[in-house]
Amino acid sequence: MEPTTPAHNPALRSTLQVDVLITGGGPCGLMLANELGRRGIRCLLVDRKPGTAFNPQANATQARTMEHYRRLGFAHKVRAQGLPADHPTDIAYLTRFAGHELARLRLPTARQATEVIKTMGGSWSAAELPHRVSQKFVEVVLREEAQALPGVELRYGWNLVDFDDDGTQVTARVAPVDGSVPQQTVHAQYMLAADGARSGVRAKFGIEWEGVTGLKRSFMGGRMFAAYLRVPQFYERNANDRAWMYVQVHPQLRSFIMSVDGVSEFAFHTQVPEGVDPDSLGPDDAKRWFARAYGEALEVEVLSTGHWMAGHALVAGALRRGRVFIGGDAAHLFTPTGGLGYNTAVEDAVNLGWKLAAVLRGEAHPALLDSYEAERKPLALRNTGYARGFADSIGLFDAVPELDDDTAAGSAARAAASDYLNGHARREFNIPGVTFGGRYDASPVICHDNTPAPPDAANSYQPSAKPGGRPPHLWLPDGRSLYDLFGFGWTLLVIDAPAVADDAQVQGFTDTASQRQVSLTVVRHASPEVNTQLHALYEAPLVLIRPDHMIAWRGADAREAGAVWDRVLGHSTTAT
Ligand SMILES: Cc1cc2nc3c(=O)[nH]c(=O)nc-3n(C[C@H](O)[C@H](O)[C@H](O)COP(=O)(O)OP(=O)(O)OC[C@H]3O[C@@H](n4cnc5c(N)ncnc54)[C@H](O)[C@@H]3O)c2cc1C
Repeated sequence: MEPTTPAHNPALRSTLQVDVLITGGGPCGLMLANELGRRGIRCLLVDRKPGTAFNPQANATQARTMEHYRRLGFAHKVRAQGLPADHPTDIAYLTRFAGHELARLRLPTARQATEVIKTMGGSWSAAELPHRVSQKFVEVVLREEAQALPGVELRYGWNLVDFDDDGTQVTARVAPVDGSVPQQTVHAQYMLAADGARSGVRAKFGIEWEGVTGLKRSFMGGRMFAAYLRVPQFYERNANDRAWMYVQVHPQLRSFIMSVDGVSEFAFHTQVPEGVDPDSLGPDDAKRWFARAYGEALEVEVLSTGHWMAGHALVAGALRRGRVFIGGDAAHLFTPTGGLGYNTAVEDAVNLGWKLAAVLRGEAHPALLDSYEAERKPLALRNTGYARGFADSIGLFDAVPELDDDTAAGSAARAAASDYLNGHARREFNIPGVTFGGRYDASPVICHDNTPAPPDAANSYQPSAKPGGRPPHLWLPDGRSLYDLFGFGWTLLVIDAPAVADDAQVQGFTDTASQRQVSLTVVRHASPEVNTQLHALYEAPLVLIRPDHMIAWRGADAREAGAVWDRVLGHSTTAT
């Protein structure tokens, strides 16, 4: 039963004081609640929806996002969601879902993924592989994890009505959607607007989108119709091997469908024909189009329908106004090819979380918060650009009229399509460079060195310890990931071969960290073999790694420690 007095129920107080107010309980807002709550920061999250997403929404959790879930200790819970552990996660291209198969990218099942990654190297040198799972399931895990943290309050069914920032705090008015209790005033030091693509906060600030929108393609360019379906016979009536995602390439209809639960639930999307009002479409259209896409009319239950716009590659002109930060879809809008929107949203929260906590706890200068936009806006531009390229690659590919014909001409057309689509599948879905290769080379809080940055390429990733990027990964002889040794705060990686980092050097760093009350974990491995590998990867005996697992500095001289901390905590913007 809900407590009924203001003393016991914060929702009944007329005013509330928190450190951070989070508007929006999608992946971005929930991830920030997790990052802040684990650092002892009090936050209130409001979302006007009654709960987490009902519709499947995003479908791919990229490997870097899984590494962040691992850092927070719940990657295994996310990997257990969605498809059964042995369900294939292949992506198949077909003339119809049960028709001619044109191409297929075979990928490991969830059960295989955690073992397969230990055998991989090079571009896939990582702690986690991606996971094919609907966002609706991920949000449940993020919500459960956040609400278990002291100091975090999540309120679904609550609306941000308005807010003001007077330069010293944010004062917001929040109210339950059902009007069950009076509006409440919330005082917060900072606010995150993770209020989605139609962000009211961004609109109030008058921040415009930059980039391109309205890109037209025969597929993935224009208004898309989405239907959440239950189709119990989908697999039993389909002679093709099981896949997770089926992309239909047909001259008369282009569509795709993803398995939501590996049993009977699916997320179906097709482009709305020119001249059709998307608001006029409903369950009957979903059944009709699904039957055409599948190749026969199966028993279908329509769980929901809606529409969305493909053809965006947009980034907000600013990601911050005063004490208010903008993240997730409120800050960038993708065409979902490559599956980057939700992942970029999560990384925004990862980037902002430790910085807000460090400033609120007095460990860092408030200027550290300027680096949120300096780091995340270039990443948003980069990622929306990649997604646009993937959308062009599949959306501008035209299916020739004879593609589905059982004739010699049809066979020849399918062979040609097969060549192209097998290549495309790898371009869009084998993207270690996108997920691991994001860098903060223009950041004011990274100690840049003058070594060259690795090439930025979607399909290949070159591990590099140049500050500003993800730390190169290594599996240790005992089966642990190097990342599992890193602290939740800062990490000093000490590498003993061939140059020996002596204890005085290490102490130089730990002393300056404790003077600044910064949590620093020293990671030093005893094995000479491991040290040799680490030295080859990191090319320096001392490496400072941020709480968001980005390299802040590397070097050999702890006398630099004071200047390094000044830079990485926002106290100084001059070069070290
Ligand atoms: C068909 C499709 C497929 C996709 N596939 C992928 C994919 O595979 N991979 C990927 O990375 N991305 C994908 N995406 C994109 C992904 O769904 C979004 O990028 C993601 O949901 C963004 O998360 P968010 O937290 O920023 O915002 P949202 O999830 O949009 O959450 C915003 C929340 O703010 C709340 N809100 C708004 N205004 C207020 C207010 N005034 N007061 C209180 N609450 C408010 C809303 O209720 C909403 O819950 C896909 C999108 C679509 C449409």
